[in-house]
Amino acid sequence: MPMPETTAAMPRSPIDSLTSPLARAAEVPVPTADELADRFALAPNPAPASEAERTERLANPGFGSSFTDHMAHARWIAGRGWTDHGIVPFADISLSPAAAVLHYSQEVFEGIKAYRHADGSVWTFRPRYNAARMAASARRLAMPELPEEDFIASLVGLVRADAAWVPSGEGESLYLRPFAFASEAFLGVHSAGIIDYYVIASPSGAYFTGGLTPISIWVSSDYHRAGRGGTGAAKTGGNYAGSLLPQQIAVEHGCDQVCFLDDITQTNIEELGGMNLMVVDADGTVRTPRLTGTILEGSTRSAILRLLADSGRRVVEETISLQGMLDGIRSGAISEVFACGTAAVVVPLGRLKGEGFEVELGGHEVTSEIHSRLTAIQNGTEPDPYGWMYRLA
Ligand SMILES: *Cc1c(COP(=O)(O)O)cnc(C)c1O
Repeated sequence: MPMPETTAAMPRSPIDSLTSPLARAAEVPVPTADELADRFALAPNPAPASEAERTERLANPGFGSSFTDHMAHARWIAGRGWTDHGIVPFADISLSPAAAVLHYSQEVFEGIKAYRHADGSVWTFRPRYNAARMAASARRLAMPELPEEDFIASLVGLVRADAAWVPSGEGESLYLRPFAFASEAFLGVHSAGIIDYYVIASPSGAYFTGGLTPISIWVSSDYHRAGRGGTGAAKTGGNYAGSLLPQQIAVEHGCDQVCFLDDITQTNIEELGGMNLMVVDADGTVRTPRLTGTILEGSTRSAILRLLADSGRRVVEETISLQGMLDGIRSGAISEVFACGTAAVVVPLGRLKGEGFEVELGGHEVTSEIHSRLTAIQNGTEPDPYGWMYRLA
């Protein structure tokens, strides 16, 4: 475990992402949850799930299919700003068929988890990072920014209302999905004058049961996730919509997920549809593609770079060509490749396939070590030397 005392002597690695605007935004102190708790007032659900029903749904949570009793909501109206902040009963949303989001995809979202610690308290991981990223995504989509403290207050309000829904099993969490979209009913193409913000919560099971299971990756040569000047660095649904067809093609090739190349040279690896990529060299160096504007800057990626750099490992952000990666895997110069993101934390790659090539990867020693270190901080079983954890309830 890297403690601040031991890191003080280490030379600071020149890793751009460690001082990126998002990384710096994440360092700004957040008021306590008690101080933020009354920003989203609770209108309790008059018909919450019964205890028996909740227990049953928590017994086998899966991912993203079951939701808690409440949701957070706020609305932005041009000329008035953000209004109507509240925690309200989880329910279907009524929208005009002319709502701009249904036509022009003006939408942004986030993904962050609440973890139950052994003493019953509930925590989340670097919420200011996600708050700042949602604001940055909103800017790119010409949407109003929700103030970062209101973003965190909405998580506090929702998790406090639905605290009984935070599972306590190993690897389990309450997945929080903040999102905002253009709800104004107008078919003209312009930035909407009404935006609705919600947070919904879904109990989520352990991604891995009994050790990390490697996944197989199809490298897409026909389709790209993002292009220069586009929306690749923003967390917006449209990026995902565009990745569904290549994802289907990956499955047709017998692979679990798709990996995208850059759209300009079409030779450099970027990331998966919803996870960043890292390469572990046999000499221990960890490399990841540099942020070029077409890669989504992951909170997990950022935390892993910090942990690795502070543990004295050589960490490099650089252009990684597909050919170089294939050569490295074949020669043994690359020992592991893994993907990382909030949902799975880290996933080792076991096979990399594309037009005209297929290579296998064996190990995931470093990947497993990163997984245990990060999840130990998130689950409160090891100290949190970075102050990454934020107590919600
Ligand atoms: C959300 C996302 C990630 C991972 O980000 P985390 O903050 O680590 O969850 C990576 N790539 C894409 C495209 C994403 O949307």
